[in-house]
Amino acid sequence: MKRLVVVALVSAFVLTLLVTAYHQCIRLDEAEIIHKVEEIRGLELLHEVPYEFMSPEEIGKQTSNLDNRSELMLKALFMADENESIKEVSVEHKAEHVVAYYDPWNKVFVISEKRASLLRKILPHEYVHVLQDQHFDLTRLLSRRTFDELMAARALIEGDACITTDLYEGREPSVEAAAFGSSSSESLLERTLDAFMEFPYVEGKIFVSRLYEEGGWDAVNAAFLDPPTTTEQIIHPNKYFSREPRKNVTNAELPLGEGWTLSSDVLGEFFIRTMLELHIDEDAARQAAAGWGGDSFDFYTNASSYLFVLNISWDSIADRDEFFTAYNKMLASIGGELLLNSSKVAMWVVKDKYVWICKFGENTLILSSPCLDLLDAYLNVAGLYEEHAA
Ligand SMILES: [Zn+2]
Repeated sequence: MKRLVVVALVSAFVLTLLVTAYHQCIRLDEAEIIHKVEEIRGLELLHEVPYEFMSPEEIGKQTSNLDNRSELMLKALFMADENESIKEVSVEHKAEHVVAYYDPWNKVFVISEKRASLLRKILPHEYVHVLQDQHFDLTRLLSRRTFDELMAARALIEGDACITTDLYEGREPSVEAAAFGSSSSESLLERTLDAFMEFPYVEGKIFVSRLYEEGGWDAVNAAFLDPPTTTEQIIHPNKYFSREPRKNVTNAELPLGEGWTLSSDVLGEFFIRTMLELHIDEDAARQAAAGWGGDSFDFYTNASSYLFVLNISWDSIADRDEFFTAYNKMLASIGGELLLNSSKVAMWVVKDKYVWICKFGENTLILSSPCLDLLDAYLNVAGLYEEHAA
């Protein structure tokens, strides 16, 4: 899961282009562009940023870091098809769409050699990132450890850049999302990657526009110093205003045998919603993911198998039950076969994988593996075997 975070991270500044490439040509000198962005955003450029040119292929490789582990994880969660190669899909996708981006680690603009003519169109948006970095240190915001925290930070960063760009172009900040144009013919993996890419721009913009309405740029600047910590706070801005924290969730640990590795993460409301949305009705997915309180995701892998443990804590029993129902519905819609079903526990076989889900307290616990022995081993370690048998 560490890898997935890296991917989200390196593609942080990439989508810009999709948004801006279609805007009419801006015939201004760069100095004028910078000056206007500084004036609108109320922040001063502290020093110049150098440019670096790269081929589209090189940009595709640089901005797309998905590895085999991320691929296995997305397949285990039914967010990619078995025959899809994550490396191919993501590298091609990026090479095709990325015109330029600002790299806050190396403090440089990276520009596609073949698309340099589009540069002027994307500069206002990218200069907002430069101002953010020079005043608030983007590497600090983007060095967060969990997927959920990182996506929340990216939503603040991109939401700000989108609102500033609206003002730059003489429009009132609008919460209307940029049209990203997804097609229903896209593969499962492409739809997953699209959802990950769009979130910071679409829901980040809605979030930052709430901050801007409440307190102008002062409120937006304050959020960079005290950033949202969960995607739940982005999706429901009132939960940012009240600083609703994430509940700590801990999982029982399976002793690692030879050749096994474990990576852990917090997925968050946005990830869980996306997982459901790929297979069930969008409104039902949103409804089911809302009420998230915290989660803990563990992914055990070796050369030939895996086990994942997703423990989600909900705000109430009603929220827990809603998710339990929606997740079972999702498994049914993917063609799962129900092996065991009680009011508290369900077990499925879905495309040669076993999926076990149970309710306990205000939590739901999902275990999944192609290997039944691994599920049994975990149930024993976690003391859940009785739940299973009941
Ligand atoms: Zn951006």
